[in-house]
This record gives sequence, C-alpha cells and structure tokens, in this order.
Amino acid sequence: KSKKVQGYAPICLGLEDFYTRRLFLRAQDCFGRPIASAPDAWIDVVERYSNDNNKTLHRTSNITKCLNLGSYNYLGFAAADEYCTPRVIESLKQYSPGTCSVRVDGGTTKLHTELEELAARFVGKPAAILFGMGYVTNSAIIPALIAKGGLIISDSLNHNSIVNGARGSGATVRVFQHNTPSHLEEVLREQIAEGQPRTHRPWKKIIVIVEGIYSMEGELCKLPEIIAVCKKYKAYTYLDEAHSIGAIGKTGRGVCELLGVDPADVDIMMGTFTKSFGSCGGYIAASKEIIQYLKHTCPAHLYGTSMSPPAVQQVISAIKVILGEDGSNRGAQKLAQIRDNSNFFRAELHKMGFEVLGDEDSPVMPIMLYNPAKIPAFSRECLKQNVAVVTVAFPATPLLLARARICISASHSREDLMRGLEVLSKVGDLVGIKYFPVESENS
Ligand code: PMP
Repeated sequence: KSKKVQGYAPICLGLEDFYTRRLFLRAQDCFGRPIASAPDAWIDVVERYSNDNNKTLHRTSNITKCLNLGSYNYLGFAAADEYCTPRVIESLKQYSPGTCSVRVDGGTTKLHTELEELAARFVGKPAAILFGMGYVTNSAIIPALIAKGGLIISDSLNHNSIVNGARGSGATVRVFQHNTPSHLEEVLREQIAEGQPRTHRPWKKIIVIVEGIYSMEGELCKLPEIIAVCKKYKAYTYLDEAHSIGAIGKTGRGVCELLGVDPADVDIMMGTFTKSFGSCGGYIAASKEIIQYLKHTCPAHLYGTSMSPPAVQQVISAIKVILGEDGSNRGAQKLAQIRDNSNFFRAELHKMGFEVLGDEDSPVMPIMLYNPAKIPAFSRECLKQNVAVVTVAFPATPLLLARARICISASHSREDLMRGLEVLSKVGDLVGIKYFPVESENS
C-alpha cells in the first residue's frame, strides 16, 4: 500500500500565497498551542482562546492532557530518566546552561570532548565534531565540505537544512529521484564516465546526499544500493541520520546497522541529538582528517557558541543507556519496544484502511490525507479526543499530498497505542481518509 512520492518542487511553484495562506492559519489546532510538559507519551497542551479583539491568547492554567503521537522522542529519553536526569542536573550545577564561548575560545568542556569520542564510537567512525543545532550541522557543514567547482547530487526529498547547505555551498546541485539508485546512476553518468579517475573529471569533488529515514515519508534509505553506485563513480556519500540514529538497528546504530552497511563505506555521517537522545545539537562523524579539517575551517565551529553542557550530558547519558554502559538492559528494552510499537501501529493502521507511507521498523508513519482542506478537521477532531497529531502540508509536501505524520515512541504503552488507534479510526471515518476499505472476513 505504500506510495512513492517524488519531486515536490515543481508542484509547489507559484501556489503558495493563493492556496495555502489561510489554510495554515486554520491548521494550527493542535501543535500550534504551547506545551506545558516534556514531549513524552502524554503532553499537557495549553488551552487557547480568543479575546474580544479576536486576538489569540493562551490560558496557561487550563491544560488538556493529550496522547502525543507527534514528537521525535523515539526512545523516550525526552522525559525524566533515572540515569540521565540526575547527571544532567549535576552538569547544570558544575557547568552552566551555556558555555558563553565558541569551541576554540573556551567553549570546549570535558563533556564536549567526551561526547565527540562517544558519538564517533557509537556510529562507528574514527572521529566526530559537535554543533549546537542539527539544522546548522547540515547548512554549515555542506558549504565547508564543497564549493564552486564541486557537484552535489541530492535526493529530491532531502530535508530543508540539506537544501540550504547545498545552495549555500556554491557547488552545482543536481537532484535524483527520491530513493532511486538507478536514477542516481543516470545523473552521475551524465556528469562523468564510469571508472574515470577523480583527477580527470570536470568536478573537483562529487558528494551524494541522502537521509537514513526520510522525515516526511517514513521510508528507509536504499543505502546499500546508493553506496554501490557511489563507489562505482567514486563519489563521496553524506548520510543524514537525524531520524534513524538511535531509533533503528538492533543496537540503535541506525540505518547502517539495520541494512548491514559498514559505516566505513559512508564518508560523512551526520545526525542530530534532538530525536532519539532527547536533547539538542548535531554531529558530523567521519575520518580523523575530515573532522580535523572541519575543526580548522568550518565557520559554525569557529564562530558559533558551543552546545549547552547539560544538553551534551543528556546525550552522553542516553548513549550510555543505549549501549548498556549504565549497568542495565534498559537500552535494549527501549530499542525492542520502539520496534515493536512501530510495527504494531503501522500494521493496525493498514488494517483500518489508511494509506500509510514508510517501511517496517520506521517509527515515522505518515497517514495520507491528500486534500489539505482535510487538515483542520483532522487535527481538530483528534484534539477533541485528546490526541495530538502533527499535520504536514505545502510547502513541506506538494499541495495535494497533505498528511498526518505519526511518530511512535518507546514510551508509548500498548494501551496508549490502542487509544490512539481508536481515535484515529473514528476521525478517519469522519474526515473520509480511509482510502483502502477493509473487507469483512465474511464478504
Ligand atoms: N535533518 C533532518 C532529516 C531533519 O528531519 C531535521 C529536523 N527534523 C534536521 C536535519 C534538523 O535537525 P534539528 O531539528 O535537530 O535542528
């Protein structure tokens, strides 16, 4: 039932103002409200009301408890944790919320160097470098790696931070059809001959950029096939693991582990700490030479304040739990739980007749609404029944491919998931988005 959606940009052109301006205002029913709790399995949503002048205000004393089907809290580390939280509090006392310095001018604490070593070890690369924000990691690193005279070949559905980084680099950018290795090869073949040595071709450098799990599709990257093409044409690979690191693979090592890829075959591994690790910031993991080069040249490293120490401590502690270095097997349990929860929820949604995108094991599962006019009713009805969902529409998707993006967490109990399914089923009938009517067993 999965549907492959490709190439958003042409459909988007010129439609922004006319069709979507009012829609967005009306669509802010659910996550448009402030949250007054950790983004765990259940969240406290602040009530919204309009005053006499029709101005939107929030009544912070009135809270609605909602089942959270929208946060990237894949392993449940965003909530208070018996191992992580005390250590984060200690780090806040010992250091401070912020370093007030860039990395090279006193902004490197012991925690920063510890996390760089740990992150590199976790993803299976020789070295790593940290950044204060995942978005900036892509948008600042890509221009530090490649410039005019270089060629970037980017998946058509890559995240905006990659698109921005690629544009800002000054390199020539070509796009290949989403997750289609044969088209990547076609694009490469247009640029260079197979087997041509790096020194004899028109590009100083070629980088192919893909994601581990595509955030709007829930789909896994066809990494082994992509790497085979890159090797054939001697192109570098850049993998964004924002949604896959920590969340998938037997020991949480992401898409490489799940698909049996040797991390040595991926030149640049990028990831964020904002999802599975319940913190903030991002990293690049690569060879010692590349990391050393970035530490000397990347403006975001040289001129941007370093990651907040408590945020760093949170990631260190979360990785230790995942690795079992906290002395418990909670990490393994969380990984088994997210896989089980995701596969259960996805299978049930399919059974109900929804069109759900994405692959097995992926905790990201978009439910297709198609018509953006269905968004306000969908999110409002879910909220009425205390279920918080994220809806995604143009320009993050093509105009007529609006969707609700469900994110499953290890912290959801089976009861939570059953409640979510019950509400989604009712709202799905009401809004008319069950595109695959389920036949009864007798018919
Ligand atoms: N890459 C991808 C694939 C993402 O989905 C995101 C954000 N969700 C980012 C990068 C940016 O990361 P952050 O939100 O941690 O800044």
